[in-house]
Amino acid sequence: MSEATNQLDVLVVGAGFGGMYMLHRARQLGLRAQVLEAGSDVGGTWYWNRYPGARCDVESLEYSYQFDEALQQEWQWSERYAPQPEILAYCQHVAERFDLRRDIEFNTRVLSAHFDEAAKRWSVTTERGQTFQAQFVVMATGCLSVPNVPEIDGAERFKGPIYHTGRWPKEGVDFTGKRVAVLGTGSSGIQSIPLIAQQAKSLTVFQRTPNHSVPAQNKPLDPTLEAAIKKNYADLRARNAQETIGFGARHPSNQGSVLEASPEEREAQFEYHWQLGGLLFMRAFGDMGLSAEANEYAAEFIRNKIRQKVKDPATAAKLLPDTAVGCKRLCADSGYFETFNQPHVSLVDLQETPLKGLYEDGVETESGRFEVDAVVFATGFDAMTGALSRIDIRGRAGQKLSDAWAEGPKTYLGLQVVGFPNLFTVTGPGSPSVLTNMLPSIEQHVRFITDAIADTKAAGLSTMEAQQGAQDAWVGHVNEVGNATIYPSCNSWYVGANIPGKPRVFMPYLGFPAYCEKCDAVKAAGYEGFERAA
Ligand code: FAD
Ligand code: NAP
Repeated sequence: MSEATNQLDVLVVGAGFGGMYMLHRARQLGLRAQVLEAGSDVGGTWYWNRYPGARCDVESLEYSYQFDEALQQEWQWSERYAPQPEILAYCQHVAERFDLRRDIEFNTRVLSAHFDEAAKRWSVTTERGQTFQAQFVVMATGCLSVPNVPEIDGAERFKGPIYHTGRWPKEGVDFTGKRVAVLGTGSSGIQSIPLIAQQAKSLTVFQRTPNHSVPAQNKPLDPTLEAAIKKNYADLRARNAQETIGFGARHPSNQGSVLEASPEEREAQFEYHWQLGGLLFMRAFGDMGLSAEANEYAAEFIRNKIRQKVKDPATAAKLLPDTAVGCKRLCADSGYFETFNQPHVSLVDLQETPLKGLYEDGVETESGRFEVDAVVFATGFDAMTGALSRIDIRGRAGQKLSDAWAEGPKTYLGLQVVGFPNLFTVTGPGSPSVLTNMLPSIEQHVRFITDAIADTKAAGLSTMEAQQGAQDAWVGHVNEVGNATIYPSCNSWYVGANIPGKPRVFMPYLGFPAYCEKCDAVKAAGYEGFERAA
């Protein structure tokens, strides 16, 4: 080990939006930081998810960094919701602008992180055989960075290529003239299916659970709107910081109750928010996320839209969701349901005819065989804990994080875990993360973590660690808030239900502004709930 690698203040894992800002802010505070990244470049989500149709579902003028005024003024988005290549180009621009790459080692997967109690330092090893020592470790490893590749019988026998949306080949895929199967109808499937259908000779979609989707209403970015926002960007950012979801302040949410609204008002609000597009639909009424009865009105509104869009009534019936709107992240599409009106596109309902597996020439269900040339898994991710559980993380007395989280993740503020001093997670379970616009959530976490590290060092202290009582209280609070909503009500990745054997726990915390206020108060009280020691 060289002297340099032993002198790190902070070792950061991951070079997505979280890791990049972590490095920048650590440098600003005079900390020596190094980032390790498994991919060959920056971008994280936007580096790996290159499938056709991939784009953000939070407007780009809001789904972007706000820490640097010149950056947010100068960067120009081309569409309301930028496509993946543009978001990746933005990440690359940020890396160049702030000279980040010189402290990022790419193609470097972290295998383990062990805390040495005597030295009060972490020792981190990589797949390339390196060992790094650092006082603090920050896991910026992403909530949706480990693809869920289902174990499907016969996958090894299938003669054609198998792709996962979250590991799409850099050179792209040409489906021209091909018979294609897509498995999965979450956001990734719903975004990619219309575009794959445009190319493929035939497309068969295998659906396990029908999903709610609202048209994104994507369009070229209006230069007048852009100019108006950029005139006082700070104002929009500040107003978004008051929103439970961290975005959307330009479209005030209706706090009224669906249950108290007249049928006409109900229809008008739903239609208005449908036209706004995508996730903004959730702002139609204040109680949609709280009451199953209220939510059912929204669900029926969406079902009616599907019935209107899909011409074949049998296909439309299979596409009708029976879950609460939003309990799985609401999808934002561009022509998803209409795709099923095309003669070369068909839908297989896996609830009617369960999947048996793949065979040499295609996909097999209990009702028969479907010959295809290529299979696309749009089957999602081992979310929120997946990346952390794949690293051998050991804290005090060699305790493994995987053991500490055997019954589901437990954290204080989604930032730290009892028994793992000086280890931080960016947008970890127990923080608002995936229920928000993730850019401001990431920035808020990075600010808290970098300040905490700098303050701890400035105070001449060596360690910072969550206290048991504070963690227990926080976990209880996160559950209480989640359980008062419709969010844990279905089998989503929010509760780990997409991964066989994963404990069922609602992992994110609902309530962005309240969370940020709590973090500010914790910091102002000398990092209340954390123990800091010499
Ligand atoms: P990531 O971008 O996931 O980066 C984590 C990085 O850590 C990855 O590059 C990974 O390779 C690396 N890593 C992980 N483990 C290791 C290891 N052991 N060793 C080395 N490196 C490692 N959020 C929104 O708010 N709005 C959106 O519109 C939106 N759209 C999305 C679309 C898709 C297709 C997906 C999958 C997610 C989307 N998200 C969206 C969530 C998105 O993940 C976040 O917004 C954000 O990009 C996360 O940044 P991050 O840096 O925290 O994590
Ligand atoms: P996802 O929401 O988890 O959807 C995965 C799909 O695959 C579901 O339809 C699931 O069915 C199905 N599936 C999983 N395992 C299966 C199996 N063994 N057999 C058959 N079907 C199976 O994953 P995702 O679509 O990749 O999206 C994940 C998250 O990433 C999103 O919720 C969102 O936060 C983010 N994202 C955002 C965008 C965007 O619009 N900006 C785009 C993509 C992703 P079940 O429902 O039955 O489990």
